Amino acid sequence: MRTENLFLNIKFILIIFILISSSSAFSYNSSGIGSAKVLEGKVFIYYIFLSEPGKSWKFTKKTQALNQANIAEQWLVKEALQYGRRLSIQDGNCDLMIPAIPAGLPLGPINNKTKIDVFKINIFEVLVKQCGFKSSADFLHWARSKYQVQSVLIGIIGNKAGRSYALPQYVKNDGIEGFFGYGMYNSVQSIDARCIAHETLHVFGAWDLYYSGPQTKQNEQLAKSLFPKDIMLTADYPLNKINLGSLSAWRVGIAPKNKIFNQFDTEK
Ligand SMILES: [Zn+2]
Repeated sequence: MRTENLFLNIKFILIIFILISSSSAFSYNSSGIGSAKVLEGKVFIYYIFLSEPGKSWKFTKKTQALNQANIAEQWLVKEALQYGRRLSIQDGNCDLMIPAIPAGLPLGPINNKTKIDVFKINIFEVLVKQCGFKSSADFLHWARSKYQVQSVLIGIIGNKAGRSYALPQYVKNDGIEGFFGYGMYNSVQSIDARCIAHETLHVFGAWDLYYSGPQTKQNEQLAKSLFPKDIMLTADYPLNKINLGSLSAWRVGIAPKNKIFNQFDTEK
């Protein structure tokens, strides 16, 4: 009897060991670099509302944009939970007026040249200083110690029409990451929660899955069959009709990798 119990105990311990070791065997290729690391735990987003002289943000428009940001944050929390990850997002904001807001990405496919031009601008360092911080390191220290967060990012929202883009870090460092959004996409449509959530995911490492410079038409077709409702693929549906697909979840560090994901690597 005793020997049998011991045998059962050993079997139990073995099963637990196998469960633990297999869960850590997943390769979570989160970029893990820059200030926004993994889409779980505590995250802080600092929105900088930019305007140009004579075109300042109207209170109602800014409130509207902040409401959309909150909807985006709640959506991200809900999607992370689908992968069993607890996420909480806090935010803060600052208003700035600068002589000229940089232009958005041109419409049409995004090629590598457009990206490089945009990435040359060290906009975060310049803007956080104007918001009253000594440097970007000072800003990061403030955000981390005040909000006890693991990840920090900046969402710039310009009071101008333009096509938004993300500014993630591509080399291993602790630099600020974030995105540049525009109050309007065209003259009628203002910034929405879907756009804020999409750009935030880029900052954590997600790839675009639609046909653009880096993604081929065949890849877009493949993405449509594998992750038809993924937020990085489709702009056709409202936020409550789309999700964070398994590839994007892997990119932001909260789901295991599947071999087929390599096909979509736009950073090769
Ligand atoms: Zn995108």
